[in-house]
Amino acid sequence: MQTSVMMSDLTWDEYQRRIEQEDAIVLLPVGALEQHGYHLPLGVDWMMSTYMARRTAENVGGIVVPPITFGYRSQIRTGGGPDRCGTVNLDGMTLINLVKDVLKEIVRHGARKVAVVDGHFENRFYLDEACFLAIRELEYAGITDARILKMLYAEYIKPETLEKVYAGKPYPGLDLEHAGILETAMMLYCHPEHVDMSRIADEDLPNFPPYDMFPGHQDWVPESGCLSPGHAATAEIGKLLVEEFVDLVTASLKKEFR
Ligand SMILES: [Zn+2]
Repeated sequence: MQTSVMMSDLTWDEYQRRIEQEDAIVLLPVGALEQHGYHLPLGVDWMMSTYMARRTAENVGGIVVPPITFGYRSQIRTGGGPDRCGTVNLDGMTLINLVKDVLKEIVRHGARKVAVVDGHFENRFYLDEACFLAIRELEYAGITDARILKMLYAEYIKPETLEKVYAGKPYPGLDLEHAGILETAMMLYCHPEHVDMSRIADEDLPNFPPYDMFPGHQDWVPESGCLSPGHAATAEIGKLLVEEFVDLVTASLKKEFR
């Protein structure tokens, strides 16, 4: 039997042995089930965070917990909003409690080095809170040596890589990159069978005002749900980005935990 880094593939005693004897880092990918236009599947965010976690686990001696496949509510100006069919929106409290419970269970199993790998922009502050509360409750329970690293890897793209990806055109920012070149390229590299480039719509960039409205104006979002066009995406660009992110997450975990 081949040794897997995926927790679901392990028996309970093998999981225990890896944590206790090999000091395995336990990685929890978090994503979302959210529309990504006509050309990408609903699962992009958890599929990509799980891919990052798996590749990183292979580099650092880690174990990947099954992903949290639902995320915090999609926002109009960063993810196209909560209204498109198929987008499953968790309330902030639900996500915080869900992730906090899973983190505490991982520590109860014996792990002391834990990483939360985020693939969905809107999750960020809710995951911070989940990590903070998990550590606080563990400390109240007398466990004071657990540490959690949290990372939204897509926030850290090298300027020279962005220059290559956008070939001189301006980078619209991570908020408008929803289902744009970055995500499309990464999916072309990691999960090409789930990308249909022929279905990318020809749309103008949205012209968002500098505020949000509740209830939201869904008509601020282009019809497809994409916030920027992904036509220029290629598997080659995806490889450049993904390998850079894998190196970045790997180096971060090694710095803190190895
Ligand atoms: Zn996404």
